[in-house]
Amino acid sequence: MVKAEAQKYINEITQKLRQYQKAYYIHSRPSVSDREYDRLFDRLVELEKQFPDLIEPDSPTHRVGSDLSQEFPEFTHTIPVLSLDKAYTIREVTEWIEKCNATAGGNLSFVCEEKIDGASIVLHYEAGILTRALTRGNGLVGNDVTPNVRTIPSVPLKLSRQVDVVVRGEIFLPKAFFRKINMELEIPYANPRNLASGTLRRIRSAEVAKIPLDIFIYEGYFSRSRPSHTLIIEELEELGFKVNKQFGVFGSTIRIQELAGRHPEWTVGSIEALPQFLKTEAEHRESREYEIDGVVIKIDEIPIRENLGYTGHHPRWALAFKFEAPQGVTVIKAIDVQVGRTGRITPVARIKPVTVAGSTISNVTLHNQEYIDMLELALEDTVAVSKRGDVIPAIENVIEKNEKGNSTWKIPGTCPGCDAVLEKKGAHHFCVNPQCRERRLAQIKFFAGREQMDIENLGAETIDFLYSKKIINNAEDIYTFDPYELLSFNGFAEKKIELIKQGIEKSKQQPFAKVLQALGIPEIGKKVIELLIDAGFSDIDSIIQAAKKGDPEVFLHIRGIGEKVAQTLIKEFSRADLVARIARLKQSGLQFAAEKETSSVGQIFKDQTWCVTGSFNNFKPREKAKAEIKKRGGRITENVSANTTHLLVGSSPGSKYEKALALKAAIITEDEFIKLLKDG
Ligand code: NAD
Repeated sequence: MVKAEAQKYINEITQKLRQYQKAYYIHSRPSVSDREYDRLFDRLVELEKQFPDLIEPDSPTHRVGSDLSQEFPEFTHTIPVLSLDKAYTIREVTEWIEKCNATAGGNLSFVCEEKIDGASIVLHYEAGILTRALTRGNGLVGNDVTPNVRTIPSVPLKLSRQVDVVVRGEIFLPKAFFRKINMELEIPYANPRNLASGTLRRIRSAEVAKIPLDIFIYEGYFSRSRPSHTLIIEELEELGFKVNKQFGVFGSTIRIQELAGRHPEWTVGSIEALPQFLKTEAEHRESREYEIDGVVIKIDEIPIRENLGYTGHHPRWALAFKFEAPQGVTVIKAIDVQVGRTGRITPVARIKPVTVAGSTISNVTLHNQEYIDMLELALEDTVAVSKRGDVIPAIENVIEKNEKGNSTWKIPGTCPGCDAVLEKKGAHHFCVNPQCRERRLAQIKFFAGREQMDIENLGAETIDFLYSKKIINNAEDIYTFDPYELLSFNGFAEKKIELIKQGIEKSKQQPFAKVLQALGIPEIGKKVIELLIDAGFSDIDSIIQAAKKGDPEVFLHIRGIGEKVAQTLIKEFSRADLVARIARLKQSGLQFAAEKETSSVGQIFKDQTWCVTGSFNNFKPREKAKAEIKKRGGRITENVSANTTHLLVGSSPGSKYEKALALKAAIITEDEFIKLLKDG
């Protein structure tokens, strides 16, 4: 390959890797398979080996993919928090061991630990107390997620001794919880790892506490260095950390032999026994309660580690032996196109049924055209199918091209539901026709779905039928059609009809938050709705009125709501068709106001917007004062703006006080506030 060509490839691959890293680390939602990512990464390593002068200083092979988020404060790591070098065969592992021994001049010992597939975390303890928890970030700087990490029961808040120590570990979600939790999410995660790292980045710690995250600690850094990793692991356990018992130590010193006596649960042996440990781990992978994607092999002797040091991407003293994902081989029989409720087009492969890790797979989502192009998928191709995170089927790669000469499959130019020309936005194609029948059908199914109106006995098949017969044409029709019309059709007996009726009737009790979610407004999902209601937008009229004003500030002052969402709220809730839909649903008796926590309390702060600043004697933390305001119908803002009607000031107020004075908001002291609460 000539240099110019190599340069072009390097640029292309680097750009793609960066794009995949963003989806994976920042949004916790990978856009391609790990295998595909690793394939590209290895290709870049190869090219950089051939053309060293083309290596960019910030090449993905030299830097850790960054998961830094602007939502959390940043802190510089005191230890390098990097990725791992990878090997895919036992031969590569043994060669690496030989190389380490050659460099160090001898007889090293190696430990083997399960490579937990979760989110990397660094915990700082001062005098035995947890003071800070940082994500890996870009390896040099991490995000401070301490309040979230504190909610994890297996993270000790206080150690058994008053030591200063920094530890590294992996936060993970046990497999058993993954399926259950993921099913309830609006957009499911691809695997437990992504769900765990997504959870860690939630803004509200109370949300994190609901997810049963767990941790294993695998490295410890004390102010005075220890001679070996095995000693560190023993000390970490003594201090109260949760360490993984699936642990192997291999070497030939007397010290290693002694470990066998002290730790019957460990696998201890000579270096020749190490490959067998890797094979056994691969075999037992499925039976573990947590996800592992390999085994990490590390040099046990700490002084040798210190000599070998790090590249910008990984330590030189450790290597990850990555497992192959369990796979099945099958043929693509057809590719159908599904139209989602937002108009998004999703191609779905219908494959010859194949069993992978115990379940039969016949449909696999192909995400979008880019994904199909990357795999170069064509009808009748023979493909490898895996279950990511043991749950979600995925096509990993083409094993054999079809003999019929079919070329890479393309998404049709028009919508299968309405023939409208499809539009491409980002990686996806969309049907932009709001009247599209397929799209409407998807909207009705979403509306009635478990997470939204939860209409019992009105499943996807019944909705398909009602829609095909034009008995219902939109979600509003569900509450106005007469289920007894169905008596004239086969398969609808009186009993079944009565059950459908009951399901529809019962769904009218779904709370306001669910109704709002059921409307299926883009960007306005569960989290935004919760923020809106918490901030005092507790009925639909207050939202419509605020949107009518056309001033994004009305929503922007709510912590967690950004410019894009504020603009969407204004645009969507000013739309006449949405307002008309809401009016129809309201008439049918759906809940368009949140239940008041204490209806006996007078709504004295209704239509007022309060900001709270400074510290208080009677409201500690000041969230308590905010709760009192909300309880009485007031709205809370985090910043003072033209919309702020009242500022509650405690001692040492800050710049908010000056701003409120300038904007002529009413300034209320703590005593005045208490009086207002008392007098009602
Ligand atoms: P990695 O996940 O392969 O390995 C490094 C991590 O392993 C460490 O940071 C640490 O958190 C973890 N680990 C678990 N147990 C450990 C133990 N006992 N000792 C030490 N470390 C342990 O590397 P990475 O940099 O986090 O991610 C790179 C991998 O992520 C790629 O190989 C790829 O598979 C995947 N990836 C996929 C995409 C995608 O789009 N699908 C994008 C980026 C990365």
